[in-house]
Amino acid sequence: MKRRFFRIFLFLLLSLSGNTIEAQDADRAITPLTWDGTLRRIHVPILMYHYVGEIPANADDMRINLTVETAAFRAQMQYLRDNRYTTISLYDLYAALMRGASLPPNPVVLTFDDGYLGHYTTVFPILQERGFTGTFFIITARADANNPEHLNWQQIREMSDANMDMESHTKDHVELDAQDYDSIVYQVLGSLESLRYYTGREAYFFGFPVGRYNENTLNVMQTLPVWAAVTTQPGTLQTTDRLLEMPRVRISHDTSIAAFARLLSP
Ligand SMILES: [Zn+2]
Repeated sequence: MKRRFFRIFLFLLLSLSGNTIEAQDADRAITPLTWDGTLRRIHVPILMYHYVGEIPANADDMRINLTVETAAFRAQMQYLRDNRYTTISLYDLYAALMRGASLPPNPVVLTFDDGYLGHYTTVFPILQERGFTGTFFIITARADANNPEHLNWQQIREMSDANMDMESHTKDHVELDAQDYDSIVYQVLGSLESLRYYTGREAYFFGFPVGRYNENTLNVMQTLPVWAAVTTQPGTLQTTDRLLEMPRVRISHDTSIAAFARLLSP
């Protein structure tokens, strides 16, 4: 009897000591929602950014095209604010698709690919100033290697603690249509596990590097704890039956505010 009591005491003690991580997870679902059977199609633009910041002197055309300069990014965020858009997370969008959870008027998801340093130095403060949230697709081996052009784990943790969603973009940015089963599992599951370990939060979303995948990739993904994945296919219509192939809206160096406004509309 005494022994049993001790065990219960020990259990309570252990549960309490695990509280920091549980408290952070408390506001987000940690099990996949069961689909209620309703096929839904919702217009939600998922904006896709790569580099945000100033253009280095030695930049080639590709680097320039992938960069939204700071002033342009600020103007775009101001446009969202002025036109009463609300930034939501992929967790919000997922709940809306699966269970019909309500979304705020004019929802938009901001996504940032590749975990560039500018996402911490430029994007993060601009989003925080406005109370916006963003989803960052991290190439986790770049963080493991302390690659100076990419976010390190400390920065990733800080952003995660500030309610930014840090999600998977594989470990090594490999194109998944060219990988076998073991490699896909290693790249996807391995990066999700690193994110969970370093942020203390769950991660269930994925971005396909270079937008590459095929039937085989999707079959393997279905066996992994990935709730939804974003692609580089253009579009704003999110549907229950294509959770692993969510379309996005590419924002490039030359996207004017007029074009930005057009891209957001259905
Ligand atoms: Zn990428």
